[in-house]
Amino acid sequence: MQTIPMPKCEECDAGISVPGDAVEGEIVTCPDCGAGFEISKKDGKFELKPAQTVGEDWGQ
Ligand SMILES: [Zn+2]
Repeated sequence: MQTIPMPKCEECDAGISVPGDAVEGEIVTCPDCGAGFEISKKDGKFELKPAQTVGEDWGQ
């Protein structure tokens, strides 16, 4: 079984668990602050890029 280093949320520093079968481009959400991140792979490691959440326009 493969162990995946747990990336940290850039917003609140919480550990975000990435599934072992995660693929690049998948979106994970921080369990603490709800920030969305896109998974990218670099040198065999997972990295998280802040994902632009497509805002639903509620019109405030
Ligand atoms: Zn967070």
